[in-house]
Amino acid sequence: MERHEALEIVQKQLTDHRYQHTLGVMETAIALAKQYGADEKKAELAAIFHDYAKFRPKEEMKRIILEQNMPNDLLLHNTELWHAPVGAYLVQTEVGINDEAILNAIRYHTSGRSDMTLLEKIIYIADYIEPGRIFPGVEEVRELAKHDLDEALIQALKNTIQFLLKKNQPIYPTTIETYNALMMKKK
Ligand code: GDP
Ligand code: FE
Ligand code: FE
Ligand code: FE
Repeated sequence: MERHEALEIVQKQLTDHRYQHTLGVMETAIALAKQYGADEKKAELAAIFHDYAKFRPKEEMKRIILEQNMPNDLLLHNTELWHAPVGAYLVQTEVGINDEAILNAIRYHTSGRSDMTLLEKIIYIADYIEPGRIFPGVEEVRELAKHDLDEALIQALKNTIQFLLKKNQPIYPTTIETYNALMMKKK
């Protein structure tokens, strides 16, 4: 699928602000794919569609999680986590993208998972550091991403977990698993 076609499809699903974010993720993901030797076309498509389900009604997302036998513990956690796996499903069924590598990059862009592929890491980080992002700690992750993708990922996860702790929010187990897997792989 060509970029302009993909962008036209996703623009209809998003607010203007979220569409601008998506363009930032796309540019960042392509640059990271070039630098780290991932498939640039897959990075482009995964980035374009990563937030496809962001504005679906919660009722619809809940129904899809149940009907498609997605991890049930999602329903106990913040609804913000739902758009990633539901997005992967809708991008396959509504847009017709069947590439598992792309769909997994969408599916795991919010929580990560243990043993993430290069493409999954790139989408996770690009989502975090695209030029429109301005929260505390983002600059440090941008710097790390220039040299070491895993270090950037660890720092992004640390920031996210710390942010959730500060807000007195529960932490989704997969987020912790992602962090642990990366820490235990470090020498
Ligand atoms: P966005 O869709 O571009 O805004 O970014 P993400 O999909 O990465 O994240 C969406 C939201 O999920 C953010 O506000 C994160 O703080 C939140 N989030 C990420 N991981 C967790 C988690 O483990 N638990 C909870 N409660 N929220 C999380
Ligand atoms: Fe997202
Ligand atoms: Fe993210
Ligand atoms: Fe995003």
